[in-house]
Formats: sequence, C-alpha cells, structure tokens
Amino acid sequence: MRGLAKTSREYGQMELVDRERPDPAPGEALIEVDYAGLCGSDAGIYKFKSAFERMDLPTVIGHEYTGTVVETGDGVTEFQVGDRVVERPIRGCGECYQCKMGEENVCQDAVITGVDHDGAYAGYISVPETALQHVQDGVDPKHAALVEPTSIGARAVIQNSRVGAGDRVLVAGPGPIGLLTAQIADAQGGDIVVAGVGSDTNYRLPLAEELGFPTLNVETDDLEGVREELTDGAGYDVVFDTTGHPSGLTMAVDEVRKGGQIVMVGQTGETTMAYSPLVRAEIDLQCSYASTWEDFERSLRLIESGDVDLETFLDDRYSLLEADEAFESFLAGDTCKPVFDVSVLRE
Ligand SMILES: [Zn+2]
Ligand SMILES: [Zn+2]
Repeated sequence: MRGLAKTSREYGQMELVDRERPDPAPGEALIEVDYAGLCGSDAGIYKFKSAFERMDLPTVIGHEYTGTVVETGDGVTEFQVGDRVVERPIRGCGECYQCKMGEENVCQDAVITGVDHDGAYAGYISVPETALQHVQDGVDPKHAALVEPTSIGARAVIQNSRVGAGDRVLVAGPGPIGLLTAQIADAQGGDIVVAGVGSDTNYRLPLAEELGFPTLNVETDDLEGVREELTDGAGYDVVFDTTGHPSGLTMAVDEVRKGGQIVMVGQTGETTMAYSPLVRAEIDLQCSYASTWEDFERSLRLIESGDVDLETFLDDRYSLLEADEAFESFLAGDTCKPVFDVSVLRE
C-alpha cells in the first residue's frame, strides 16, 4: 500500500511512500481507510510549524478518517470484520489521573495519530480497539470521516459553553472548526453570526452563508454598528475564538457582553493584553481542547440527524495523489474541509 508522508523538516515535502500493510497487534483492529479529511493541523505539518518538531520523519499523516474493520488481532472483543469505525486520534495512555477521570483529551502522556505514529492517509491503519468507535449504518462514509473535527465543535459548544436558546453568539473564524462550532451552537438554539477576514471572502464566508449564517468581514464591516444592531449594544452572550490568530482573543474581548463567555477552541494564537477589564466585566474565559468518547458519540448523532450538515460543508474536489493542491488551497482559504477518497492508495 501507499501512504502520504511528511518526509523532511521543510515547508511542503509531502510524498507518497510505500508501506507494508500492517498486521494488527493483540488488541488492535486493522482498518481499510475509506475517507479522510484535511485538518488545520495537517496543514501545520505541511508548513512544519514548531508544534510538530517532535515528529520522526517520514511519518504518514492524517488523523480524521473513517474505515471498515478487515482483520482483528487477538483479544479484540468490541469490533468485528465489516464494522464501520472512526478513531479518536489523541490516544490517551489509559493510566494517568486524567485518563482515569475520562479526560483523555488532556492525558499526561497521549500520542497522536498522524503525528507520533503513521496516520490515516494510507490504505490501511492498525488501531487499538480502545481508540475506536462504531459508526451507524445511516451515516454516509464521507460524513463519518468528519466525526473527529465535528467532535471538537461539539466539545466546545456542548461541554464547554453556556450557549442556550436565544443566545447571541459570535463565531470568530470561518475555518473548519468555526463552521462546525457554528452549526452545533445553532442546534443548541443560539443566534449565530460568523466573522472572518478578507481572505475568507472567496470561499469560507460564502460557505458560512450557504450553511445559513449571517457573516461579517472584520476588515471591512462596521463591527460596532453590527453589534449595536444585533445585540442592542450589549455585546454577544458567547464568542467562540476559532481563528488560530493572535487577534482572535482581543477581538472576542471587544465583542463579548459584560458577564458573557469567551470560548477559545483548539490552537489559538499568542497575544498579550490587559486582562483586568475582563475581571471587572466578569467575563468567563473558557478553553476547549480536542474531544473525548462522549463528544464523538454526540457528533455521530448530530451528523445522522442532520443538525450538522456535512454534505454542504465538505469539499471532495481534491486527490491524495496531488495533495499539494489541497494543502495550498487550504492555506489560501480557497477551501474549508477537503475530504479525500483514500482508496486510491490501495490501487
Ligand atoms: Zn484535526
Ligand atoms: Zn493518560
């Protein structure tokens, strides 16, 4: 089989490599990968940002995917050949304090698929059954490939935010996590506005509108005027910062109402700011990182019910055989969530 691997510590440098089809170790299931998504962190590996310096290269990347069990190792009890599955790619150690508490997303010793070991841009992947979850028959495989990013939004909104019916919600950043967060906050009853920048006006803000959300371009629109109109000047009840940019948090502070909540999701930017105004306004600053078993289960149901519309959201124009095109388009903001047909790597 072939895999798409990061091969050197420079920008780009993704190459198709030959790999042996793995044998499932005891407790593992061998999965034939059907579809896989391209995530912001995959783009981070493409650029080779400092967060990925620990990687041994070459490593096959890809961590959001779905597939079918084709073989099981000794002692596997929960999964059988033919089962459709998704993986929680942050594999907790199972032994630390957080793992015992069910907080494997903040495990002290986690390893990440497609970073610390070969990932899912490959014909097959062998995975401990403890990291797998079943996919219902009613879920389209292309949609199932996006359970993992959906679970990031589900955790941010359902576990970590106070969004409820009638809340005015600003989602900053119309990238993949932003548009999934927006859809789940909408399912919770919030009134959503999605904000982006000039480079989002090509693809991502129009996609947000196609998904049914009013949008703002923070570089050209009158934010104060819109806030005045939509919130009677009070500010948004909840602001999600999914921008990954240093300006995200300071903008959130400007936009949130006194007594409101800011939820920082995933890889945020770094900034310095005066924080005593936050204290005096009693702003709740909440972080949300990765996801757990429960967030995956909720996401599968939100996808099956249609509360999260992945058909409109995903972009299947790209091929793993010409992956640079997908990465460059992603970095330019000309796509939001590429989903690859991984069967090409078995041919
Ligand atoms: Zn991801
Ligand atoms: Zn752990």
